[in-house]
Amino acid sequence: MKSEYLLLKEYMDQSDKTIAVTGAGISYLYGMRRLKQTVGTINARHIFSPAYVRKSPEKFYELMKSAFLDATFVKGPSAVHKQLAQLEKQGKIYGIVTQNLDCLHTIAGSENVVEFQGSFRDNICIDCNSHCYDYRVWNEGHMPRCEKCGAPLIPTSFYMDSKTHSDVSTENMNRAANMISEADLVIIIGTTGFRSNEYLSKMRSETKLVQVNPSVTEFDRIADLNIHADAAEVFDAILNG
Ligand SMILES: [Zn+2]
Repeated sequence: MKSEYLLLKEYMDQSDKTIAVTGAGISYLYGMRRLKQTVGTINARHIFSPAYVRKSPEKFYELMKSAFLDATFVKGPSAVHKQLAQLEKQGKIYGIVTQNLDCLHTIAGSENVVEFQGSFRDNICIDCNSHCYDYRVWNEGHMPRCEKCGAPLIPTSFYMDSKTHSDVSTENMNRAANMISEADLVIIIGTTGFRSNEYLSKMRSETKLVQVNPSVTEFDRIADLNIHADAAEVFDAILNG
């Protein structure tokens, strides 16, 4: 095993609480970027309004499908999602903080996941504000509807016109920061640091920080160990090496 992989393995063996922080690099595509490429930045914001969803629910669904849902339900979890789920089952990873919206950690089998930007797991009715906590409603080939009143559902974290959006954002970020504050080891995988100040500021000074990313990022200057390699190769070596 490469010496830097071995060092990460040693850190993981010594740590009581290891948190993985993941970003777009471990998913097949970053949905929001894809959505903005399709409809433009201004329209992407407009699309997440109750008015747009009410007027064109099936168009909204088709846009979600091409930007997010096909990655989730057609392509499914990557090798890294599966490896992290396996490490959680072995007790080597305590939890995952992710910027990704695609639910792929949950589908891969990870249980302790904080999606700090929200995801398709938490949905709200645009008329009666009932919640539906199930990402599978997005895999039925049409726009999901509220069980109580029949109006369209929208992921709560996307609900731009609502106070709910900021409440949910704050709650998700607080959960991420709490998880990081308890960690002995934080492994940052495939992210370039989107909103990282908000959760990393809660990291204790003695906590070790390791980055796994083929590219150089802003974490290079603060990490205790930088592994510039493909994450699937690194975690395969740790699981099987
Ligand atoms: Zn409703």
